[in-house]
Amino acid sequence: MKKSDVPLIVNGRRVDGRLPEELREIKMSVGEILNADGSARVSFGKTEAIVAVYGPRALFPKFLQETDAGLIRVVYSMSPFSVDERKNPAPDRRSIEISKVTKEALTGAIFIEDFPKAVVDVYENIVQADGSTRVTAINAASLALASAGIPMKDLVAACSVGKIDGTLIVDLSGKEDNYSESDMAVAMMPSKGLITLLQMDGRLTKEEIMELLKKAEEACKKIYEMQKKALLDKFKVEED
Ligand code: ADP
Repeated sequence: MKKSDVPLIVNGRRVDGRLPEELREIKMSVGEILNADGSARVSFGKTEAIVAVYGPRALFPKFLQETDAGLIRVVYSMSPFSVDERKNPAPDRRSIEISKVTKEALTGAIFIEDFPKAVVDVYENIVQADGSTRVTAINAASLALASAGIPMKDLVAACSVGKIDGTLIVDLSGKEDNYSESDMAVAMMPSKGLITLLQMDGRLTKEEIMELLKKAEEACKKIYEMQKKALLDKFKVEED
Protein backbone atom coordinates (compact mmCIF):
# COMPACT_ATOMS: atom_id res chain seq x y z
CA MET A 1 0.00 0.00 0.00
CA LYS A 2 1.42 3.42 -1.01
CA LYS A 3 0.94 6.30 1.41
CA SER A 4 -0.33 9.63 0.13
CA ASP A 5 1.61 12.79 1.13
CA VAL A 6 -1.67 14.58 1.79
CA PRO A 7 -4.70 13.24 3.68
CA LEU A 8 -7.34 11.87 1.33
CA ILE A 9 -10.23 12.40 3.74
CA VAL A 10 -10.57 15.84 5.38
CA ASN A 11 -13.54 16.69 7.62
CA GLY A 12 -15.40 13.69 6.26
CA ARG A 13 -14.93 14.76 2.62
CA ARG A 14 -12.83 13.12 -0.07
CA VAL A 15 -10.26 14.89 -2.31
CA ASP A 16 -12.93 15.72 -4.89
CA GLY A 17 -15.37 16.91 -2.22
CA ARG A 18 -17.49 13.78 -2.18
CA LEU A 19 -18.92 12.15 0.92
CA PRO A 20 -17.65 8.61 1.57
CA GLU A 21 -20.68 6.94 0.00
CA GLU A 22 -21.20 9.40 -2.82
CA LEU A 23 -20.91 8.29 -6.44
CA ARG A 24 -19.28 10.55 -9.02
CA GLU A 25 -21.49 12.15 -11.67
CA ILE A 26 -22.72 9.28 -13.85
CA LYS A 27 -23.71 9.63 -17.51
CA MET A 28 -25.14 6.88 -19.67
CA SER A 29 -26.18 6.72 -23.30
CA VAL A 30 -27.19 3.86 -25.55
CA GLY A 31 -26.83 3.16 -29.27
CA GLU A 32 -24.14 5.60 -30.43
CA ILE A 33 -22.17 3.06 -32.49
CA LEU A 34 -24.43 2.49 -35.45
CA ASN A 35 -22.46 -0.42 -36.95
CA ALA A 36 -22.76 -2.44 -33.76
CA ASP A 37 -25.77 -4.57 -32.81
CA GLY A 38 -25.74 -2.83 -29.44
CA SER A 39 -23.62 -0.15 -27.82
CA ALA A 40 -23.37 2.11 -24.81
CA ARG A 41 -21.25 4.86 -23.34
CA VAL A 42 -20.97 5.22 -19.57
CA SER A 43 -18.92 7.68 -17.56
CA PHE A 44 -18.26 7.88 -13.84
CA GLY A 45 -16.62 11.27 -13.39
CA LYS A 46 -13.55 11.27 -15.63
CA THR A 47 -13.62 7.52 -16.24
CA GLU A 48 -15.38 6.77 -19.50
CA ALA A 49 -16.10 3.47 -21.28
CA ILE A 50 -17.55 2.89 -24.74
CA VAL A 51 -18.76 -0.63 -25.43
CA ALA A 52 -19.87 -2.25 -28.69
CA VAL A 53 -21.62 -5.61 -28.93
CA TYR A 54 -21.76 -7.75 -32.08
CA GLY A 55 -23.88 -10.87 -32.39
CA PRO A 56 -25.15 -13.42 -31.82
CA ARG A 57 -23.34 -14.58 -34.98
CA ALA A 58 -21.97 -17.92 -36.17
CA LEU A 59 -18.89 -19.01 -34.26
CA PHE A 60 -15.81 -20.15 -36.18
CA PRO A 61 -13.65 -22.22 -36.02
CA LYS A 62 -16.34 -24.82 -35.53
CA PHE A 63 -14.56 -26.74 -32.77
CA LEU A 64 -15.26 -23.76 -30.45
CA GLN A 65 -19.00 -24.21 -30.92
CA GLU A 66 -21.16 -25.63 -28.13
CA THR A 67 -24.27 -27.48 -29.28
CA ASP A 68 -26.33 -26.38 -26.29
CA ALA A 69 -24.98 -22.88 -25.52
CA GLY A 70 -23.58 -19.76 -27.06
CA LEU A 71 -20.26 -18.12 -26.18
CA ILE A 72 -19.63 -14.66 -24.79
CA ARG A 73 -16.25 -13.12 -25.66
CA VAL A 74 -15.01 -9.95 -23.99
CA VAL A 75 -12.09 -7.74 -24.95
CA TYR A 76 -11.28 -4.94 -22.47
CA SER A 77 -8.78 -2.37 -23.66
CA MET A 78 -7.54 0.96 -22.39
CA SER A 79 -6.81 3.47 -25.15
CA PRO A 80 -3.23 4.79 -25.30
CA PHE A 81 -4.59 8.32 -24.67
CA SER A 82 -6.83 7.34 -21.73
CA VAL A 83 -4.13 7.95 -19.10
CA ASP A 84 -1.56 10.72 -18.52
CA GLU A 85 1.38 8.78 -19.95
CA ARG A 86 0.75 6.99 -23.25
CA LYS A 87 -0.30 3.40 -22.60
CA ASN A 88 1.01 0.66 -24.90
CA PRO A 89 -2.12 -0.46 -26.80
CA ALA A 90 -1.05 -4.13 -26.83
CA PRO A 91 -2.96 -6.41 -24.45
CA ASP A 92 -1.15 -6.70 -21.11
CA ARG A 93 -1.67 -9.01 -18.13
CA ARG A 94 -4.08 -6.53 -16.55
CA SER A 95 -6.35 -6.23 -19.59
CA ILE A 96 -6.33 -10.01 -20.13
CA GLU A 97 -7.40 -10.50 -16.50
CA ILE A 98 -10.12 -7.85 -16.72
CA SER A 99 -11.44 -9.34 -19.99
CA LYS A 100 -11.66 -12.76 -18.30
CA VAL A 101 -13.44 -11.65 -15.13
CA THR A 102 -15.78 -9.39 -17.10
CA LYS A 103 -16.74 -12.26 -19.38
CA GLU A 104 -17.65 -14.27 -16.28
CA ALA A 105 -19.50 -11.34 -14.70
CA LEU A 106 -21.66 -10.90 -17.81
CA THR A 107 -22.14 -14.54 -18.83
CA GLY A 108 -23.97 -15.28 -15.58
CA ALA A 109 -26.66 -12.80 -16.58
CA ILE A 110 -27.21 -14.07 -20.14
CA PHE A 111 -29.44 -16.91 -21.39
CA ILE A 112 -26.56 -18.40 -23.40
CA GLU A 113 -28.58 -21.52 -24.10
CA ASP A 114 -30.78 -19.36 -26.36
CA PHE A 115 -28.09 -19.08 -29.07
CA PRO A 116 -26.22 -22.41 -29.40
CA LYS A 117 -23.16 -22.53 -31.70
CA ALA A 118 -23.09 -18.73 -31.83
CA VAL A 119 -20.92 -16.03 -30.27
CA VAL A 120 -21.58 -12.58 -28.86
CA ASP A 121 -18.53 -10.32 -28.95
CA VAL A 122 -18.25 -7.51 -26.40
CA TYR A 123 -15.58 -4.86 -27.06
CA GLU A 124 -14.91 -2.57 -24.11
CA ASN A 125 -12.87 0.55 -24.78
CA ILE A 126 -11.73 2.85 -21.99
CA VAL A 127 -11.28 6.29 -23.52
CA GLN A 128 -10.59 8.06 -20.21
CA ALA A 129 -9.28 6.33 -17.10
CA ASP A 130 -9.59 7.76 -13.61
CA GLY A 131 -10.17 4.69 -11.45
CA SER A 132 -12.85 1.97 -11.47
CA THR A 133 -12.59 1.34 -15.21
CA ARG A 134 -13.59 -2.33 -15.08
CA VAL A 135 -16.87 -1.63 -13.28
CA THR A 136 -17.66 1.37 -15.49
CA ALA A 137 -17.12 -0.87 -18.53
CA ILE A 138 -19.32 -3.63 -17.07
CA ASN A 139 -22.17 -1.14 -16.64
CA ALA A 140 -21.77 -0.09 -20.27
CA ALA A 141 -21.43 -3.68 -21.50
CA SER A 142 -24.62 -4.67 -19.77
CA LEU A 143 -26.49 -1.80 -21.45
CA ALA A 144 -24.92 -2.62 -24.82
CA LEU A 145 -25.97 -6.28 -24.51
CA ALA A 146 -29.52 -5.33 -23.60
CA SER A 147 -29.71 -2.85 -26.48
CA ALA A 148 -28.50 -5.61 -28.86
CA GLY A 149 -31.53 -7.64 -27.76
CA ILE A 150 -29.45 -10.36 -26.08
CA PRO A 151 -31.77 -12.33 -23.77
CA MET A 152 -30.78 -11.51 -20.19
CA LYS A 153 -31.91 -12.58 -16.73
CA ASP A 154 -31.19 -9.08 -15.42
CA LEU A 155 -28.95 -6.11 -16.14
CA VAL A 156 -25.56 -6.25 -14.46
CA ALA A 157 -24.73 -3.17 -12.38
CA ALA A 158 -21.25 -2.66 -10.97
CA CYS A 159 -19.27 -0.35 -8.72
CA SER A 160 -16.09 -0.17 -6.71
CA VAL A 161 -15.84 0.20 -2.95
CA GLY A 162 -12.81 0.43 -0.69
CA LYS A 163 -11.08 1.79 2.37
CA ILE A 164 -8.96 4.90 2.52
CA ASP A 165 -7.45 6.57 5.60
CA GLY A 166 -9.59 4.16 7.65
CA THR A 167 -12.86 5.27 5.99
CA LEU A 168 -15.07 3.00 3.85
CA ILE A 169 -15.83 4.65 0.51
CA VAL A 170 -17.79 4.03 -2.70
CA ASP A 171 -16.67 4.59 -6.34
CA LEU A 172 -12.90 5.08 -6.14
CA SER A 173 -11.22 7.65 -8.36
CA GLY A 174 -7.74 6.97 -9.79
CA LYS A 175 -5.94 8.74 -6.96
CA GLU A 176 -8.02 6.97 -4.33
CA ASP A 177 -7.36 3.63 -6.01
CA ASN A 178 -3.63 4.37 -5.93
CA TYR A 179 -3.51 5.08 -2.21
CA SER A 180 -6.34 2.91 -0.91
CA GLU A 181 -5.77 0.44 1.90
CA SER A 182 -8.13 -1.87 0.06
CA ASP A 183 -10.45 -1.82 -2.94
CA MET A 184 -13.15 -4.14 -4.18
CA ALA A 185 -14.86 -4.41 -7.57
CA VAL A 186 -18.43 -5.69 -7.31
CA ALA A 187 -20.93 -6.53 -10.06
CA MET A 188 -24.40 -7.84 -9.43
CA MET A 189 -27.82 -8.57 -10.82
CA PRO A 190 -29.68 -6.17 -8.52
CA SER A 191 -33.22 -7.49 -8.87
CA LYS A 192 -32.01 -10.99 -8.01
CA GLY A 193 -29.47 -9.93 -5.37
CA LEU A 194 -26.83 -12.14 -7.06
CA ILE A 195 -23.17 -11.15 -7.23
CA THR A 196 -21.44 -11.92 -10.55
CA LEU A 197 -18.05 -10.32 -9.86
CA LEU A 198 -16.16 -9.85 -6.61
CA GLN A 199 -12.49 -8.90 -6.59
CA MET A 200 -10.49 -7.47 -3.72
CA ASP A 201 -7.05 -5.95 -3.19
CA GLY A 202 -5.49 -5.16 0.19
CA ARG A 203 -6.61 -6.08 3.68
CA LEU A 204 -10.02 -5.77 5.36
CA THR A 205 -11.68 -7.33 8.38
CA LYS A 206 -14.67 -9.62 7.86
CA GLU A 207 -16.95 -6.87 9.27
CA GLU A 208 -15.52 -4.32 6.82
CA ILE A 209 -16.07 -6.69 3.90
CA MET A 210 -19.71 -7.19 4.92
CA GLU A 211 -20.18 -3.42 5.35
CA LEU A 212 -18.59 -2.69 1.97
CA LEU A 213 -20.76 -5.31 0.27
CA LYS A 214 -23.82 -3.58 1.71
CA LYS A 215 -22.61 -0.22 0.40
CA ALA A 216 -21.84 -1.78 -3.00
CA GLU A 217 -25.33 -3.24 -3.18
CA GLU A 218 -26.91 0.14 -2.41
CA ALA A 219 -24.76 1.84 -5.06
CA CYS A 220 -25.49 -0.89 -7.64
CA LYS A 221 -29.21 -0.41 -7.09
CA LYS A 222 -28.87 3.31 -7.89
CA ILE A 223 -26.80 2.52 -10.98
CA TYR A 224 -29.38 -0.10 -12.02
CA GLU A 225 -32.15 2.51 -11.98
CA MET A 226 -30.02 4.77 -14.21
CA GLN A 227 -29.36 1.87 -16.59
CA LYS A 228 -33.06 1.13 -16.93
CA LYS A 229 -33.75 4.82 -17.58
CA ALA A 230 -31.01 4.97 -20.25
CA LEU A 231 -32.60 2.02 -22.07
CA LEU A 232 -36.11 3.43 -21.75
CA ASP A 233 -34.97 6.86 -22.98
CA LYS A 234 -33.35 5.30 -26.03
CA PHE A 235 -36.19 3.06 -27.08
CA LYS A 236 -38.98 5.46 -26.14
CA VAL A 237 -37.47 8.14 -28.38
CA GLU A 238 -37.25 5.66 -31.27
CA GLU A 239 -40.89 4.67 -30.86
CA ASP A 240 -42.12 8.30 -31.03
P1 ADP B 1 -9.78 -0.46 -12.36
O1 ADP B 1 -9.60 0.59 -13.39
O2 ADP B 1 -10.84 -1.44 -12.70
O3 ADP B 1 -9.95 0.12 -10.97
P2 ADP B 1 -7.04 -1.12 -11.63
O4 ADP B 1 -7.22 -1.19 -10.16
O5 ADP B 1 -6.09 -2.09 -12.28
O6 ADP B 1 -8.44 -1.34 -12.36
O7 ADP B 1 -6.58 0.34 -12.05
C1 ADP B 1 -6.86 1.45 -11.27
C2 ADP B 1 -6.61 2.71 -12.03
O8 ADP B 1 -5.22 2.86 -12.29
C3 ADP B 1 -7.24 2.78 -13.43
O9 ADP B 1 -8.61 3.09 -13.37
C4 ADP B 1 -6.43 3.88 -14.06
O10 ADP B 1 -6.92 5.16 -13.64
C5 ADP B 1 -5.05 3.61 -13.49
N1 ADP B 1 -4.25 2.82 -14.44
C6 ADP B 1 -4.37 1.52 -14.75
N2 ADP B 1 -3.46 1.15 -15.68
C7 ADP B 1 -2.75 2.27 -15.97
C8 ADP B 1 -1.66 2.56 -16.87
N3 ADP B 1 -1.15 1.63 -17.66
N4 ADP B 1 -1.20 3.84 -16.89
C9 ADP B 1 -1.73 4.79 -16.07
N5 ADP B 1 -2.75 4.59 -15.23
C10 ADP B 1 -3.26 3.34 -15.17
